[in-house]
Amino acid sequence: MQQDLLHRYTFDQLDVRGELVQIEQTYQEMISGHEYPVAVQKLLGELLVATCLLTATLKFEGDIAVQLQGDGPVKYAVINGDDQQNMRGIARLQSEVAGSTIKELIGNGVMVLTITPNKGERYQGIVPLEHETLAECLEAYFAQSEQLQTRLWFTTDTTAGSEKASGLLLQVLPVNKAKSIEDFTHLEALSNTIKDEELLTLDATTVLTRLYHEDNPRVYEPQPIHFKCGCTRDKTITALVNVGQQTLLDDASANGEVKISCHYCLKDYIFNEQDIKSIFN
Ligand SMILES: [Zn+2]
Repeated sequence: MQQDLLHRYTFDQLDVRGELVQIEQTYQEMISGHEYPVAVQKLLGELLVATCLLTATLKFEGDIAVQLQGDGPVKYAVINGDDQQNMRGIARLQSEVAGSTIKELIGNGVMVLTITPNKGERYQGIVPLEHETLAECLEAYFAQSEQLQTRLWFTTDTTAGSEKASGLLLQVLPVNKAKSIEDFTHLEALSNTIKDEELLTLDATTVLTRLYHEDNPRVYEPQPIHFKCGCTRDKTITALVNVGQQTLLDDASANGEVKISCHYCLKDYIFNEQDIKSIFN
């Protein structure tokens, strides 16, 4: 199994930048144990790839959350990540999933993009989900808010035990507009020739050479992507304090212990009566 990586590339003569993301382990850890329907697994895979691509595109140091929410069977799906490519994600269902388009999954909804930089002000962008695919929704976001022509390709393989998700991004550089659009059109046509299977299984160098060998892509040092939940016993205790000592003690005496499961990674945090008493002392 290859490492989960984000690759960035530019071209010496062309005013376009690109990114390639290939993910296995992070994706598998994220969906493991949740028993999501296949369409939801695919949605989360695409959203994970999208979030990795966005962290590199929007250039910030801090946290990012990309959330889809609406009135459809999937109440919400969210990926939380940071500029170090530590990722986690979850989807919550409110009715049975039938269909696989954004409309069929999320219903009438929005994408909420939240960036919380380590320094500086929080940014939030909201876009209506008016397209069939997540890629098209994000392309519309970039056209509106960044005014940068962008193309995205996402693909997932949900074969149990070897789940994979991959994606490509092309975006014009904000320099000479006429030239960059021409360059973009050229590279977009080349990128359209990649097959899902190739994007999922070939290593990045092979993919980029196969697509762009005549345009001399300059590929930068890749960035590893990891699953990282970030939940801890201490954070769980902080949440428990709000519940109140008596409620917790009642719960502990009824069930022998208080068990708090992380919604994201499903890790259990167990507290017995003694633990609860010491939290409140
Ligand atoms: Zn967790």
